[in-house]
Amino acid sequence: MSTPNSNDPNGFTPFGLHKNLMRGVRAAGYENPRPIQAESIPAILEGRDVLGLAQTGTGKTAAFALPVIHHIMNQTTRESRVLVLAPTRELANQIAEEFQTFSQYTDVTGMTIYGGVSMGNQISSLRRRPDVIVGCPGRVLDLMQQGHLKLNSLDTLILDEADHMFDMGFLPDIKKILSRLPKNRQNLLFSATMPKDIRHLATDLLSDPHVVELADKAPVSTIDHALYRIPEKRKRDLLHVILDRDDFDSAIIFTRTKHRAKRLADQLSKAGHRSAALQGNMSQSQRDRAMRGFRERTFDILVATDIAARGLDVEKVSHVINFDVPNTPEAYTHRIGRTGRSEREGIAFTFVTGEDIGWVRATERMIGSKIERRREEGFEPDQEARSSSRSKNGNGRSNGSRSGSSRSNGSRSNGSRSKPKNSSSRKSRGQSSSRSRR
Ligand code: AMP
Repeated sequence: MSTPNSNDPNGFTPFGLHKNLMRGVRAAGYENPRPIQAESIPAILEGRDVLGLAQTGTGKTAAFALPVIHHIMNQTTRESRVLVLAPTRELANQIAEEFQTFSQYTDVTGMTIYGGVSMGNQISSLRRRPDVIVGCPGRVLDLMQQGHLKLNSLDTLILDEADHMFDMGFLPDIKKILSRLPKNRQNLLFSATMPKDIRHLATDLLSDPHVVELADKAPVSTIDHALYRIPEKRKRDLLHVILDRDDFDSAIIFTRTKHRAKRLADQLSKAGHRSAALQGNMSQSQRDRAMRGFRERTFDILVATDIAARGLDVEKVSHVINFDVPNTPEAYTHRIGRTGRSEREGIAFTFVTGEDIGWVRATERMIGSKIERRREEGFEPDQEARSSSRSKNGNGRSNGSRSGSSRSNGSRSNGSRSKPKNSSSRKSRGQSSSRSRR
């Protein structure tokens, strides 16, 4: 690709997109296509179905938006030609905004359709026959069934975050929508993961799809990582159990706040561990001292906030422990990447309370696989609704321990090192970072 320049997004030129669409690409500030765009745009322009295995953040919106806007610009009649189904209002809005950015110098129009807002406005917008409709399945189906949304001229159907829509129970609605669409159309399906039902849907929906599979954001395979479902108030006890195990050598422990980092570091020191805090309230020289002490092993434990999650490169950290889950799924990979460096094995545990379930789902979606659940005898899952008497006897069952590994593999509860369950599948996906299949 030629060198990008702010006035000419050269990287997109070879796609042959309409010049007014290219103005939109420039307005979005895009200079070079992302891998998913480079792989998908030509195939979509050719009219092929596409199966994109990619999560939000990879650039998949532009991967489908640009070629479909280009198609619409070549049409002479005004009809709703593109339907994008997305799991949440936020995502629908985000997609619609991106369409709007790209099509701002064209006469392509669009609208969003989702529940929780007045139907009246949506019905009157539909009368103007927008080219692109971005919506959530429930309201889209309602409006179709009521006869307000007619998609007889639909050219392209896009299912975005299909696995997420499935998790949210939208599959029956999606199937009903599909049964009402014209049969002759292009189908694009994007999903971060491919559980069985999505595979079936893809098989039914897509004809000879061009498959784009991105190298996933999974942690490196030398990291043995797992979740512990644990009530907030028992986190410290579980931490002590882990730190007392034979395989413990050194750890970075992440907390949510500066205050928690400081307090936990103090508590660990009082309990006889050589620990230091690393958090944003410390002066630079204090932070340097903590880092140096950890590198030189004056301390075995660094209790840190996320300022330490990125870039920190310390050799031979045996454990990363997320005492609190990070704010974002992406931060998970950054944090646990502090261990298992340079081909060394590392262990990363994350303490998860009942409030963190949404984060767990989002993180698993991002890394494209389920994170193993482990349990430690005597440590109960955080089920506030359950009686505290059950939480004392150690027999409660955890939602979080659905994965067979945690229960069927009781020996794991001692934290013994083992190969990550899905390292081989991760590798095979990583190798074919972007491929097409006939
Ligand atoms: P998405 O995965 O579509 O949600 O995109 C993630 C983010 O990447 C969004 O903020 C996009 O605006 C941005 N993005 C997507 N493609 C490009 C590109 N080719 N150049 C620069 N930014 C991009």
